[in-house]
Amino acid sequence: MNCEVWDAVVGSAFCVANGFSGMAMKCIVVLGGGFGGLQATIELDRIYRRRTDVEIILVNQQNFFLFTPLLPQIASSYINPRHIVQAIRDIRGRRRFRFRRDDVRAIDVGRRRVELASGALDYDYLVVALGSRTNYFHVPGAREHTWDFKSLEEAVVLRERILDLSEHADHTRDPAARRQMLTFVVVGAGYTGIELATEMHDILFGYVARRYRGISAADIRLIVLESEPEILRGVHPRLLENARKRLQATGIEVRPGAKVTRCYPGGVEVNGSETIAAETVIWTAGVCAHELVEMLPGPHDRIGRAVVNEHLQLEGYPEVFVAGDSSAAITAKEAPRVAPVAIAQGRLAARNIAHAERGEALESYRYVSQGMLVSLGMNHAVVDIAGFKLSGYFAWLFWNAVHLFKLVGLKKQLQVAIDWSLAVIFPRDASIVRRPRRCKLCGTDDSQRDTRNAGLWEMPGR
Ligand SMILES: Cc1cc2nc3c(=O)[nH]c(=O)nc-3n(C[C@H](O)[C@H](O)[C@H](O)COP(=O)(O)OP(=O)(O)OC[C@H]3O[C@@H](n4cnc5c(N)ncnc54)[C@H](O)[C@@H]3O)c2cc1C
Repeated sequence: MNCEVWDAVVGSAFCVANGFSGMAMKCIVVLGGGFGGLQATIELDRIYRRRTDVEIILVNQQNFFLFTPLLPQIASSYINPRHIVQAIRDIRGRRRFRFRRDDVRAIDVGRRRVELASGALDYDYLVVALGSRTNYFHVPGAREHTWDFKSLEEAVVLRERILDLSEHADHTRDPAARRQMLTFVVVGAGYTGIELATEMHDILFGYVARRYRGISAADIRLIVLESEPEILRGVHPRLLENARKRLQATGIEVRPGAKVTRCYPGGVEVNGSETIAAETVIWTAGVCAHELVEMLPGPHDRIGRAVVNEHLQLEGYPEVFVAGDSSAAITAKEAPRVAPVAIAQGRLAARNIAHAERGEALESYRYVSQGMLVSLGMNHAVVDIAGFKLSGYFAWLFWNAVHLFKLVGLKKQLQVAIDWSLAVIFPRDASIVRRPRRCKLCGTDDSQRDTRNAGLWEMPGR
Protein backbone atom coordinates (compact mmCIF):
# COMPACT_ATOMS: atom_id res chain seq x y z
CA MET A 1 0.00 0.00 0.00
CA ASN A 2 1.26 3.48 -0.79
CA CYS A 3 1.43 5.90 2.10
CA GLU A 4 -0.13 8.61 -0.06
CA VAL A 5 -3.44 6.80 -0.09
CA TRP A 6 -3.73 6.68 3.69
CA ASP A 7 -6.71 8.24 5.23
CA ALA A 8 -6.75 11.92 4.22
CA VAL A 9 -6.42 13.32 7.68
CA VAL A 10 -4.99 10.79 10.09
CA GLY A 11 -3.07 8.53 7.71
CA SER A 12 -1.33 11.29 5.80
CA ALA A 13 -0.61 13.17 8.96
CA PHE A 14 1.01 10.04 10.34
CA CYS A 15 3.05 9.53 7.17
CA VAL A 16 4.24 13.12 6.97
CA ALA A 17 4.95 13.22 10.68
CA ASN A 18 7.13 10.16 10.28
CA GLY A 19 8.88 11.43 7.20
CA PHE A 20 7.50 8.91 4.72
CA SER A 21 5.37 11.16 2.55
CA GLY A 22 5.74 10.19 -1.09
CA MET A 23 7.56 6.91 -0.39
CA ALA A 24 5.91 3.61 -1.29
CA MET A 25 5.86 2.01 2.12
CA LYS A 26 4.59 -1.38 3.19
CA CYS A 27 3.00 -1.17 6.56
CA ILE A 28 2.82 -4.16 8.94
CA VAL A 29 0.74 -3.55 12.05
CA VAL A 30 0.89 -5.79 15.11
CA LEU A 31 -1.95 -5.48 17.62
CA GLY A 32 -1.04 -6.49 21.18
CA GLY A 33 2.33 -6.31 22.93
CA GLY A 34 2.01 -9.53 24.93
CA PHE A 35 3.87 -12.77 24.32
CA GLY A 36 2.57 -13.31 20.77
CA GLY A 37 2.57 -9.73 19.48
CA LEU A 38 5.96 -8.84 20.89
CA GLN A 39 7.55 -11.97 19.45
CA ALA A 40 5.97 -11.24 16.05
CA THR A 41 7.29 -7.69 16.14
CA ILE A 42 10.82 -8.70 17.10
CA GLU A 43 10.90 -11.35 14.38
CA LEU A 44 9.54 -8.92 11.77
CA ASP A 45 12.12 -6.39 12.84
CA ARG A 46 14.87 -8.97 12.41
CA ILE A 47 13.61 -10.02 8.97
CA TYR A 48 13.12 -6.46 7.69
CA ARG A 49 15.97 -4.70 9.44
CA ARG A 50 17.50 -3.54 6.14
CA ARG A 51 14.21 -2.71 4.40
CA THR A 52 13.53 0.99 4.85
CA ASP A 53 10.41 0.62 2.71
CA VAL A 54 8.77 -1.59 5.35
CA GLU A 55 7.24 0.01 8.40
CA ILE A 56 6.47 -2.17 11.44
CA ILE A 57 4.14 -0.71 14.04
CA LEU A 58 3.33 -2.38 17.35
CA VAL A 59 0.21 -1.15 19.14
CA ASN A 60 -0.42 -1.98 22.78
CA GLN A 61 -2.65 -0.59 25.51
CA GLN A 62 0.19 -0.36 28.00
CA ASN A 63 3.73 0.80 27.32
CA PHE A 64 5.11 -2.36 28.89
CA PHE A 65 5.28 -6.09 28.38
CA LEU A 66 3.82 -8.10 31.26
CA PHE A 67 5.34 -11.42 32.31
CA THR A 68 2.09 -13.09 33.45
CA PRO A 69 3.56 -16.28 35.01
CA LEU A 70 4.77 -14.21 37.96
CA LEU A 71 1.47 -12.35 38.51
CA PRO A 72 0.38 -14.54 41.47
CA GLN A 73 3.56 -13.49 43.29
CA ILE A 74 2.45 -9.85 43.05
CA ALA A 75 -0.77 -10.66 44.90
CA SER A 76 1.25 -12.26 47.70
CA SER A 77 3.68 -9.34 47.98
CA TYR A 78 6.52 -11.69 47.12
CA ILE A 79 7.90 -9.52 44.34
CA ASN A 80 7.57 -5.90 43.35
CA PRO A 81 5.06 -5.26 40.53
CA ARG A 82 7.53 -3.20 38.51
CA HIS A 83 9.92 -6.12 38.36
CA ILE A 84 7.75 -8.31 36.14
CA VAL A 85 7.13 -5.69 33.48
CA GLN A 86 9.54 -4.37 30.90
CA ALA A 87 9.03 -1.06 29.07
CA ILE A 88 8.52 -1.84 25.38
CA ARG A 89 10.78 1.07 24.43
CA ASP A 90 13.58 -0.62 26.38
CA ILE A 91 12.91 -3.97 24.74
CA ARG A 92 13.03 -2.19 21.40
CA GLY A 93 16.49 -0.77 22.14
CA ARG A 94 18.12 -0.21 18.76
CA ARG A 95 15.49 -2.05 16.78
CA ARG A 96 13.59 -0.08 14.11
CA PHE A 97 9.96 -0.91 14.81
CA ARG A 98 7.63 1.85 15.93
CA PHE A 99 5.65 1.55 19.11
CA ARG A 100 2.32 3.18 19.67
CA ARG A 101 0.69 3.04 23.10
CA ASP A 102 -2.91 3.19 22.07
CA ASP A 103 -6.23 1.46 22.44
CA VAL A 104 -7.49 -0.58 19.49
CA ARG A 105 -11.17 0.21 19.06
CA ALA A 106 -12.06 -1.64 15.85
CA ILE A 107 -10.55 -3.79 13.11
CA ASP A 108 -11.91 -3.25 9.61
CA VAL A 109 -10.41 -6.11 7.61
CA GLY A 110 -12.40 -5.10 4.50
CA ARG A 111 -10.70 -1.69 4.38
CA ARG A 112 -7.42 -2.97 5.87
CA ARG A 113 -7.66 -0.46 8.66
CA VAL A 114 -7.60 -0.47 12.45
CA GLU A 115 -9.29 2.23 14.45
CA LEU A 116 -7.29 3.36 17.42
CA ALA A 117 -8.37 5.74 20.17
CA SER A 118 -6.17 8.42 18.62
CA GLY A 119 -6.95 7.79 14.94
CA ALA A 120 -6.90 5.23 12.16
CA LEU A 121 -4.01 3.11 10.97
CA ASP A 122 -3.95 1.38 7.59
CA TYR A 123 -2.01 -1.78 7.00
CA ASP A 124 -0.77 -4.13 4.33
CA TYR A 125 -0.33 -7.00 6.77
CA LEU A 126 -1.86 -7.35 10.19
CA VAL A 127 -1.01 -9.55 13.17
CA VAL A 128 -3.80 -9.77 15.75
CA ALA A 129 -2.49 -10.89 19.16
CA LEU A 130 -4.86 -9.20 21.58
CA GLY A 131 -4.92 -11.99 24.16
CA SER A 132 -8.06 -13.09 25.95
CA ARG A 133 -10.50 -11.89 28.59
CA THR A 134 -12.26 -13.43 31.53
CA ASN A 135 -15.07 -15.86 30.78
CA TYR A 136 -17.85 -15.71 33.38
CA PHE A 137 -19.87 -18.50 31.74
CA HIS A 138 -23.05 -16.42 32.25
CA VAL A 139 -22.97 -17.08 36.00
CA PRO A 140 -25.31 -14.46 37.52
CA GLY A 141 -23.43 -11.80 39.48
CA ALA A 142 -19.97 -13.12 38.55
CA ARG A 143 -18.93 -10.10 36.50
CA GLU A 144 -20.20 -7.62 39.07
CA HIS A 145 -19.18 -9.25 42.34
CA THR A 146 -15.90 -11.05 41.73
CA TRP A 147 -12.34 -9.86 41.27
CA ASP A 148 -10.52 -10.46 38.01
CA PHE A 149 -6.96 -11.68 37.93
CA LYS A 150 -5.40 -11.10 34.54
CA SER A 151 -3.57 -7.79 34.52
CA LEU A 152 -0.83 -6.21 36.61
CA GLU A 153 -3.32 -3.67 37.87
CA GLU A 154 -5.65 -6.42 39.06
CA ALA A 155 -2.84 -8.23 40.86
CA VAL A 156 -1.80 -5.02 42.63
CA VAL A 157 -5.40 -4.28 43.60
CA LEU A 158 -5.89 -7.82 44.92
CA ARG A 159 -2.75 -7.59 47.06
CA GLU A 160 -4.08 -4.39 48.63
CA ARG A 161 -7.51 -5.92 49.05
CA ILE A 162 -6.01 -8.79 51.07
CA LEU A 163 -4.10 -6.36 53.26
CA ASP A 164 -7.01 -3.92 53.62
CA LEU A 165 -9.31 -6.69 54.86
CA SER A 166 -6.60 -7.89 57.23
CA GLU A 167 -6.35 -4.38 58.68
CA HIS A 168 -10.12 -4.27 59.26
CA ALA A 169 -10.30 -7.83 60.60
CA ASP A 170 -7.48 -7.11 63.04
CA HIS A 171 -9.72 -4.88 65.17
CA THR A 172 -13.11 -6.46 64.43
CA ARG A 173 -14.59 -7.85 67.62
CA ASP A 174 -17.30 -9.98 66.01
CA PRO A 175 -15.64 -13.35 65.18
CA ALA A 176 -18.20 -14.14 62.44
CA ALA A 177 -17.56 -10.81 60.70
CA ARG A 178 -13.81 -11.32 61.05
CA ARG A 179 -14.06 -14.77 59.53
CA GLN A 180 -16.11 -13.48 56.60
CA MET A 181 -13.53 -10.78 55.93
CA LEU A 182 -10.79 -13.38 55.97
CA THR A 183 -12.54 -15.93 53.78
CA PHE A 184 -11.16 -15.85 50.26
CA VAL A 185 -12.65 -17.88 47.45
CA VAL A 186 -10.77 -18.60 44.24
CA VAL A 187 -13.06 -19.85 41.47
CA GLY A 188 -11.26 -22.23 39.11
CA ALA A 189 -8.62 -24.83 39.95
CA GLY A 190 -6.60 -24.54 36.79
CA TYR A 191 -2.94 -23.55 36.88
CA THR A 192 -3.67 -19.87 37.54
CA GLY A 193 -6.23 -20.54 40.29
CA ILE A 194 -3.99 -23.01 42.13
CA GLU A 195 -0.87 -20.86 41.81
CA LEU A 196 -2.78 -17.85 43.05
CA ALA A 197 -4.33 -19.73 45.99
CA THR A 198 -0.97 -21.08 47.13
CA GLU A 199 0.59 -17.62 46.93
CA MET A 200 -2.34 -16.17 48.90
CA HIS A 201 -1.79 -18.92 51.45
CA ASP A 202 1.82 -17.77 51.87
CA ILE A 203 0.91 -14.17 52.65
CA LEU A 204 -2.19 -14.95 54.73
CA PHE A 205 -0.75 -17.70 56.91
CA GLY A 206 2.94 -16.78 56.68
CA TYR A 207 2.54 -13.06 57.25
CA VAL A 208 -0.96 -11.89 58.24
CA ALA A 209 -1.61 -14.59 60.88
CA ARG A 210 1.76 -13.81 62.47
CA ARG A 211 1.89 -10.02 62.35
CA TYR A 212 -1.73 -8.99 62.94
CA ARG A 213 -2.30 -9.65 66.62
CA GLY A 214 -6.09 -9.64 66.33
CA ILE A 215 -6.01 -12.41 63.72
CA SER A 216 -5.23 -16.08 64.21
CA ALA A 217 -4.71 -18.75 61.57
CA ALA A 218 -8.10 -20.22 62.54
CA ASP A 219 -9.80 -17.01 61.34
CA ILE A 220 -8.48 -17.43 57.80
CA ARG A 221 -10.16 -19.59 55.18
CA LEU A 222 -8.92 -20.10 51.67
CA ILE A 223 -11.20 -22.06 49.34
CA VAL A 224 -10.71 -23.10 45.72
CA LEU A 225 -13.91 -24.09 43.88
CA GLU A 226 -13.75 -26.14 40.70
CA SER A 227 -16.81 -27.18 38.70
CA GLU A 228 -15.04 -30.14 37.05
CA PRO A 229 -14.35 -33.37 38.97
CA GLU A 230 -10.60 -32.84 38.59
CA ILE A 231 -8.17 -30.02 39.38
CA LEU A 232 -5.05 -29.02 37.39
CA ARG A 233 -6.27 -30.64 34.20
CA GLY A 234 -3.46 -32.07 32.08
CA VAL A 235 -1.03 -32.66 34.93
CA HIS A 236 0.43 -36.19 35.07
CA PRO A 237 -1.47 -38.35 37.66
CA ARG A 238 1.62 -38.85 39.85
CA LEU A 239 2.35 -35.14 39.99
CA LEU A 240 -1.32 -34.40 40.50
CA GLU A 241 -1.39 -36.69 43.52
CA ASN A 242 1.64 -34.90 44.90
CA ALA A 243 0.01 -31.49 44.29
CA ARG A 244 -3.19 -32.66 46.02
CA LYS A 245 -1.23 -33.79 49.09
CA ARG A 246 0.65 -30.51 49.21
CA LEU A 247 -2.58 -28.49 48.98
CA GLN A 248 -4.14 -30.61 51.71
CA ALA A 249 -1.12 -30.04 53.96
CA THR A 250 -1.39 -26.27 53.56
CA GLY A 251 -5.02 -26.27 54.66
CA ILE A 252 -6.34 -24.76 51.44
CA GLU A 253 -9.83 -26.20 50.87
CA VAL A 254 -9.85 -27.44 47.29
CA ARG A 255 -13.29 -28.57 46.19
CA PRO A 256 -13.65 -30.30 42.80
CA GLY A 257 -17.23 -30.69 41.56
CA ALA A 258 -18.21 -27.42 43.23
CA LYS A 259 -19.84 -25.30 40.56
CA VAL A 260 -20.43 -21.64 41.34
CA THR A 261 -24.01 -20.93 40.31
CA ARG A 262 -24.40 -17.37 41.59
CA CYS A 263 -22.25 -14.59 43.00
CA TYR A 264 -23.52 -11.82 45.20
CA PRO A 265 -21.93 -9.12 47.36
CA GLY A 266 -20.41 -11.03 50.26
CA GLY A 267 -20.43 -14.56 48.91
CA VAL A 268 -21.15 -17.25 46.36
CA GLU A 269 -23.73 -19.96 45.81
CA VAL A 270 -22.35 -23.42 45.04
CA ASN A 271 -24.18 -26.13 43.05
CA GLY A 272 -27.42 -24.17 43.37
CA SER A 273 -27.84 -24.82 47.08
CA GLU A 274 -24.90 -24.17 49.41
CA THR A 275 -23.75 -20.61 50.12
CA ILE A 276 -20.30 -19.53 51.22
CA ALA A 277 -19.90 -16.13 52.88
CA ALA A 278 -16.72 -14.48 51.64
CA GLU A 279 -15.82 -10.82 51.19
CA THR A 280 -13.48 -11.62 48.30
CA VAL A 281 -14.18 -13.97 45.42
CA ILE A 282 -11.54 -14.12 42.69
CA TRP A 283 -12.57 -15.42 39.28
CA THR A 284 -9.92 -17.48 37.44
CA ALA A 285 -12.35 -20.01 35.99
CA GLY A 286 -11.72 -19.49 32.31
CA VAL A 287 -11.05 -17.20 29.43
CA CYS A 288 -12.73 -16.31 26.17
CA ALA A 289 -11.54 -14.36 23.15
CA HIS A 290 -11.04 -10.61 23.10
CA GLU A 291 -14.21 -8.86 21.90
CA LEU A 292 -12.41 -7.48 18.81
CA VAL A 293 -11.37 -11.01 17.88
CA GLU A 294 -14.93 -12.25 18.32
CA MET A 295 -16.00 -9.59 15.83
CA LEU A 296 -13.54 -10.68 13.12
CA PRO A 297 -15.24 -12.29 10.11
CA GLY A 298 -15.05 -16.06 9.57
CA PRO A 299 -15.45 -19.03 11.88
CA HIS A 300 -14.83 -18.90 15.62
CA ASP A 301 -14.47 -21.65 18.22
CA ARG A 302 -16.71 -22.05 21.28
CA ILE A 303 -14.80 -19.41 23.25
CA GLY A 304 -14.78 -16.93 20.40
CA ARG A 305 -11.22 -17.37 19.13
CA ALA A 306 -10.71 -16.87 15.41
CA VAL A 307 -10.37 -20.22 13.65
CA VAL A 308 -7.41 -19.68 11.33
CA ASN A 309 -5.72 -21.96 8.80
CA GLU A 310 -2.45 -23.79 9.41
CA HIS A 311 -0.54 -20.65 8.35
CA LEU A 312 -2.49 -18.65 10.99
CA GLN A 313 -4.34 -16.65 8.30
CA LEU A 314 -7.89 -15.44 8.75
CA GLU A 315 -10.34 -17.05 6.34
CA GLY A 316 -10.80 -14.81 3.28
CA TYR A 317 -8.15 -12.35 4.46
CA PRO A 318 -4.69 -13.83 3.81
CA GLU A 319 -3.00 -10.60 4.91
CA VAL A 320 -4.43 -10.99 8.45
CA PHE A 321 -2.68 -13.36 10.86
CA VAL A 322 -4.00 -14.25 14.32
CA ALA A 323 -1.67 -15.50 17.07
CA GLY A 324 -1.66 -16.52 20.74
CA ASP A 325 -4.76 -16.63 22.93
CA SER A 326 -6.79 -15.00 20.11
CA SER A 327 -6.11 -17.81 17.68
CA ALA A 328 -7.53 -21.32 17.17
CA ALA A 329 -5.35 -22.81 14.46
CA ILE A 330 -7.08 -25.70 12.69
CA THR A 331 -3.89 -27.76 12.99
CA ALA A 332 -3.61 -27.24 16.74
CA LYS A 333 -7.05 -27.12 18.32
CA GLU A 334 -5.70 -28.88 21.39
CA ALA A 335 -2.97 -26.28 21.98
CA PRO A 336 -3.36 -24.74 25.45
CA ARG A 337 -3.56 -20.98 25.92
CA VAL A 338 -0.06 -20.51 27.28
CA ALA A 339 2.91 -18.26 26.61
CA PRO A 340 5.06 -20.74 24.62
CA VAL A 341 2.21 -21.26 22.13
CA ALA A 342 1.74 -17.49 21.74
CA ILE A 343 5.48 -16.99 21.24
CA ALA A 344 5.70 -19.76 18.62
CA GLN A 345 2.65 -18.45 16.76
CA GLY A 346 3.86 -14.84 16.89
CA ARG A 347 7.17 -15.91 15.38
CA LEU A 348 5.45 -18.01 12.72
CA ALA A 349 3.03 -15.20 11.77
CA ALA A 350 6.02 -12.89 11.23
CA ARG A 351 7.84 -15.43 9.08
CA ASN A 352 4.71 -16.11 7.04
CA ILE A 353 4.23 -12.40 6.36
CA ALA A 354 7.77 -12.34 4.95
CA HIS A 355 7.08 -15.48 2.89
CA ALA A 356 3.81 -14.03 1.56
CA GLU A 357 5.45 -10.74 0.70
CA ARG A 358 8.15 -12.58 -1.28
CA GLY A 359 5.64 -14.90 -2.94
CA GLU A 360 7.07 -17.98 -1.18
CA ALA A 361 5.25 -20.98 0.30
CA LEU A 362 4.01 -20.39 3.85
CA GLU A 363 4.97 -22.45 6.92
CA SER A 364 2.40 -24.39 8.95
CA TYR A 365 1.84 -24.25 12.69
CA ARG A 366 2.17 -27.50 14.63
CA TYR A 367 1.73 -27.60 18.38
CA VAL A 368 4.63 -29.08 20.32
CA SER A 369 4.20 -29.24 24.09
CA GLN A 370 7.09 -27.74 26.01
CA GLY A 371 6.09 -29.34 29.28
CA MET A 372 4.34 -28.10 32.38
CA LEU A 373 5.42 -26.27 35.52
CA VAL A 374 3.12 -25.38 38.43
CA SER A 375 4.30 -23.51 41.49
CA LEU A 376 2.57 -24.46 44.75
CA GLY A 377 3.81 -21.53 46.82
CA MET A 378 7.09 -21.12 48.64
CA ASN A 379 9.38 -24.18 48.37
CA HIS A 380 7.10 -26.48 46.35
CA ALA A 381 6.27 -27.07 42.70
CA VAL A 382 5.49 -29.82 40.22
CA VAL A 383 7.39 -30.01 36.97
CA ASP A 384 6.94 -32.22 33.89
CA ILE A 385 9.42 -31.45 31.13
CA ALA A 386 10.65 -33.76 28.39
CA GLY A 387 9.48 -36.85 30.30
CA PHE A 388 11.31 -35.64 33.39
CA LYS A 389 8.88 -35.47 36.36
CA LEU A 390 9.76 -33.79 39.61
CA SER A 391 7.91 -32.42 42.62
CA GLY A 392 8.83 -30.69 45.88
CA TYR A 393 11.65 -28.33 46.72
CA PHE A 394 13.95 -29.12 43.77
CA ALA A 395 11.04 -28.75 41.39
CA TRP A 396 10.44 -25.33 42.97
CA LEU A 397 14.08 -24.34 42.40
CA PHE A 398 13.72 -25.50 38.80
CA TRP A 399 10.50 -23.50 38.43
CA ASN A 400 12.30 -20.40 39.71
CA ALA A 401 15.28 -20.92 37.42
CA VAL A 402 13.11 -21.36 34.32
CA HIS A 403 11.02 -18.27 35.05
CA LEU A 404 14.05 -16.17 35.86
CA PHE A 405 15.62 -17.23 32.58
CA LYS A 406 12.44 -16.41 30.64
CA LEU A 407 12.10 -12.91 32.08
CA VAL A 408 13.01 -10.22 29.58
CA GLY A 409 16.23 -8.35 30.41
CA LEU A 410 19.04 -8.76 32.92
CA LYS A 411 17.78 -5.88 35.07
CA LYS A 412 14.43 -7.58 35.62
CA GLN A 413 16.09 -10.93 36.23
CA LEU A 414 18.28 -9.38 38.93
CA GLN A 415 15.38 -7.51 40.50
CA VAL A 416 13.24 -10.64 40.76
CA ALA A 417 16.16 -12.74 42.03
CA ILE A 418 16.80 -10.13 44.72
CA ASP A 419 13.09 -10.00 45.65
CA TRP A 420 13.05 -13.78 46.04
CA SER A 421 16.21 -13.77 48.13
CA LEU A 422 15.00 -10.98 50.40
CA ALA A 423 11.73 -12.84 50.98
CA VAL A 424 13.70 -15.70 52.53
CA ILE A 425 15.12 -13.36 55.18
CA PHE A 426 12.62 -10.54 55.61
CA PRO A 427 8.82 -10.45 56.01
CA ARG A 428 6.55 -9.47 53.13
CA ASP A 429 5.81 -5.80 52.50
CA ALA A 430 2.33 -5.02 53.84
CA SER A 431 2.06 -1.33 52.96
CA ILE A 432 -1.16 -0.20 51.34
CA VAL A 433 -0.13 2.73 49.20
CA ARG A 434 -3.43 3.63 47.56
CA ARG A 435 -6.93 4.02 48.87
CA PRO A 436 -8.41 0.51 48.85
CA ARG A 437 -10.98 -0.16 46.16
CA ARG A 438 -14.52 -1.47 46.65
CA CYS A 439 -14.28 -1.49 50.42
CA LYS A 440 -17.48 -0.86 52.39
CA LEU A 441 -15.56 -0.02 55.54
CA CYS A 442 -13.27 2.45 53.80
CA GLY A 443 -16.29 3.99 52.04
CA THR A 444 -14.92 3.15 48.60
CA ASP A 445 -17.41 0.51 47.51
CA ASP A 446 -19.18 0.81 44.16
CA SER A 447 -21.89 3.15 45.40
CA GLN A 448 -19.39 5.66 46.78
CA ARG A 449 -16.66 5.58 44.21
CA ASP A 450 -13.76 7.90 44.74
CA THR A 451 -13.44 9.40 41.29
CA ARG A 452 -10.26 11.35 42.02
CA ASN A 453 -8.04 8.41 41.25
CA ALA A 454 -10.49 6.48 39.09
CA GLY A 455 -9.08 5.06 35.93
CA LEU A 456 -5.62 4.12 37.11
CA TRP A 457 -6.54 1.84 39.96
CA GLU A 458 -10.18 1.14 39.30
CA MET A 459 -10.92 -2.47 38.50
CA PRO A 460 -11.57 -2.48 34.74
CA GLY A 461 -15.13 -3.06 33.68
CA ARG A 462 -16.61 -2.23 37.05
C1 LIG B 1 -2.44 -14.84 35.96
C2 LIG B 1 -1.92 -15.55 34.75
C3 LIG B 1 -0.90 -16.46 34.88
C4 LIG B 1 -0.41 -17.14 33.77
N1 LIG B 1 0.60 -18.02 33.94
C5 LIG B 1 1.14 -18.62 32.86
C6 LIG B 1 2.25 -19.48 33.01
O1 LIG B 1 2.74 -19.70 34.12
N2 LIG B 1 2.76 -20.06 31.90
C7 LIG B 1 2.24 -19.82 30.65
O2 LIG B 1 2.76 -20.34 29.67
N3 LIG B 1 1.16 -19.03 30.49
C8 LIG B 1 0.61 -18.42 31.55
N4 LIG B 1 -0.48 -17.60 31.39
C9 LIG B 1 -1.11 -17.50 30.06
C10 LIG B 1 -0.33 -16.54 29.16
O3 LIG B 1 -0.17 -15.31 29.82
C11 LIG B 1 -1.07 -16.31 27.87
O4 LIG B 1 -1.32 -17.54 27.23
C12 LIG B 1 -0.28 -15.42 26.95
O5 LIG B 1 -0.08 -14.17 27.57
C13 LIG B 1 -0.98 -15.22 25.63
O6 LIG B 1 -0.24 -14.33 24.85
P1 LIG B 1 -0.96 -13.34 23.84
O7 LIG B 1 0.10 -12.59 23.13
O8 LIG B 1 -1.96 -14.07 23.05
O9 LIG B 1 -1.79 -12.36 24.78
P2 LIG B 1 -1.28 -11.41 25.94
O10 LIG B 1 0.06 -11.80 26.41
O11 LIG B 1 -2.40 -11.35 26.90
O12 LIG B 1 -1.15 -10.01 25.21
C14 LIG B 1 -2.24 -9.31 24.72
C15 LIG B 1 -1.85 -7.84 24.67
O13 LIG B 1 -2.85 -7.13 23.97
C16 LIG B 1 -3.09 -5.92 24.65
N5 LIG B 1 -4.43 -5.45 24.33
C17 LIG B 1 -5.59 -6.05 24.64
N6 LIG B 1 -6.61 -5.30 24.18
C18 LIG B 1 -6.07 -4.24 23.57
C19 LIG B 1 -6.61 -3.11 22.89
N7 LIG B 1 -7.94 -2.95 22.74
N8 LIG B 1 -5.76 -2.19 22.40
C20 LIG B 1 -4.42 -2.34 22.54
N9 LIG B 1 -3.86 -3.39 23.16
C21 LIG B 1 -4.67 -4.32 23.66
C22 LIG B 1 -2.93 -6.28 26.11
O14 LIG B 1 -2.70 -5.14 26.88
C23 LIG B 1 -1.74 -7.23 26.06
O15 LIG B 1 -0.53 -6.53 26.20
C24 LIG B 1 -0.98 -16.90 32.49
C25 LIG B 1 -2.02 -15.97 32.34
C26 LIG B 1 -2.48 -15.29 33.46
C27 LIG B 1 -3.59 -14.31 33.30
